[in-house]
Amino acid sequence: MNRRLMWLACLMLTLLPATLRAADADTYRVLASIRPIALLVQELTAGLPVQVDTLLPAGATTHDYALSPSDLTRIKRADRVVWLGAASEPYLRKLVQPHPRQLAWESLPELLRLPARAALHSAPHEHHSDHGHHHHGSDGLDPHIWWSVPNAILLARALEQQLASERPAWQAQLQQQRQRFEQGLLAQLVEQRARFAIGFKPFLLAHDAFHYLEEDLGIQSDAAILLDPEARPGVKHLLTLKKRVQEQHIGCVITGALVPASLIDKVDGQPPLLRQPLDELGWDYPGSRYSEWLAQAYGKLAECVGLTLG
Ligand SMILES: [Zn+2]
Repeated sequence: MNRRLMWLACLMLTLLPATLRAADADTYRVLASIRPIALLVQELTAGLPVQVDTLLPAGATTHDYALSPSDLTRIKRADRVVWLGAASEPYLRKLVQPHPRQLAWESLPELLRLPARAALHSAPHEHHSDHGHHHHGSDGLDPHIWWSVPNAILLARALEQQLASERPAWQAQLQQQRQRFEQGLLAQLVEQRARFAIGFKPFLLAHDAFHYLEEDLGIQSDAAILLDPEARPGVKHLLTLKKRVQEQHIGCVITGALVPASLIDKVDGQPPLLRQPLDELGWDYPGSRYSEWLAQAYGKLAECVGLTLG
């Protein structure tokens, strides 16, 4: 090695650790309460020094989760916390609300808010569900807002603004990626709506978590076995559903981790229902892009209602 190269190598060795430290300090940490939010942040900030973490582990539900001491540390250390908000995630209220940089999806002014539905989705006498169970959240809001494309676009716009005001150098890239995100989601949805408009077979939900997804696609499930995962359905409800499965020729049920198979057995008939798993919190999707995750969900739903690829 000649002297000049040697000198260069020495210089690099002394510089390298400092460069690494600077890069690490520059990493912007986002803590998302649930995985679909994390996927959205990851897609929006791809290529930027942003580290996205999910608070709720796989298998836990927004309906009930006990925070550990290490979760508290993660909340405190985050540069920004993105969550649903106090109505849908009451267990986070005391910890996240005081955080100087928190963004509550629910609090965005133009949010699409769908009401919690009655268990039978199309019965004519049940248009207004002011009797019976309210799905978590006393205001009657269906909390599963993360399935809605219009809501995803609102969150991406709010995030773009907030991140760009904190890191002005990222502004151009954020804007470009947010626009691409929006256009991609909308184009995908237009295509999918056309696909589902051809007609679909009646289907059932194990847990009533997909109202926003159905709304986007222009379809409607027939009924849900569970409104609230903590509440056991009554025998009468299960018998009604079993009867409907036969009478309406329902062929498929969207299942998830929250509803035990034994409960689905109780409404099953002959021929047996096709059981299509779809995780309401996105843990069945291994990638890192919100739009791709939604595309996967559309595909699973299409299979459930008897639509072939096209
Ligand atoms: Zn739910």
